[in-house]
Amino acid sequence: MFIPIQPEIPKFQCNACGSCCSHIRGIIPKEDQEFIREFAFGKMPVVQLVPVERMTFPLWDWEAKRFMEWQKEANVNANIKPLRVIFDLKSNKAIVLTYFMDGETDACPFLKENKCSIYHTKRAYVCRLFPFNMGPFIGNDGMNQKESLFGECWAMEKILPQLPDNFEKMVGFLSEAFPDGSFINAVQNDIIIEWANSTIIELARKKIIKPAVNYPYEFLLKRVSNAEKIDFTDFLVESSYLSREEKEILIKKFDGNADAKEKIENFLSSR
Ligand code: SF4
Ligand code: SF4
Repeated sequence: MFIPIQPEIPKFQCNACGSCCSHIRGIIPKEDQEFIREFAFGKMPVVQLVPVERMTFPLWDWEAKRFMEWQKEANVNANIKPLRVIFDLKSNKAIVLTYFMDGETDACPFLKENKCSIYHTKRAYVCRLFPFNMGPFIGNDGMNQKESLFGECWAMEKILPQLPDNFEKMVGFLSEAFPDGSFINAVQNDIIIEWANSTIIELARKKIIKPAVNYPYEFLLKRVSNAEKIDFTDFLVESSYLSREEKEILIKKFDGNADAKEKIENFLSSR
């Protein structure tokens, strides 16, 4: 009997060339750029504070807190600033959802002699998910075009041509081809984005916040700059949406990629 031989799934191997950390300003997928330009400058509750060309990758508020500590240890000035906020008309506070590093150059301020100076730490999702831009589970009818999943990385050369078109096969392939954890990190980061969006909607629905929407952008920027700032997850505690303990548990769960592992396992076992 003829038994077809399945080609071995190639394994992604990052050689820490530092290329993806060398140009972090304005490097975001085209579809995201279009969305941000259309909706993030006053039309939606989450307002972006800098133009797309100037932004670097977003750090969740709890990640930004860690980066602020690590920059002291690494003797780096990462110039970490708020990137996206919700201006709450109820409390008059600017609730900071994400931060960004506004370094002097195009490169990540933590990149020294082509090496990440905080590689031994947890770093941020955006550091750990590369070469992915995003996972395959979000987007139109539950899946993204495979071309939009990845950023530019030479180590993808052997993997991309073998990536299946079929969605089910693709998820199985990705979970084997990325033993470095980048696939799980990409899926978890998407889950956190969904969590943040649905939490903002729920806060508004429960009248805990009243986000400023459809305000002239320059006016909004002025209000934000004069407002008291509070991190999103701290606001959840301050507003009693979460207890302090629940917040710590949530962040720990995010850090452990628990949701992504469950999502991938459930998907693979249901095939
Ligand atoms: S992910 Fe790719 S581009 Fe980034 S350091 Fe690794 S090999 Fe280089
Ligand atoms: S913190 Fe490290 S891994 Fe993350 S972008 Fe900067 S140099 Fe790269």
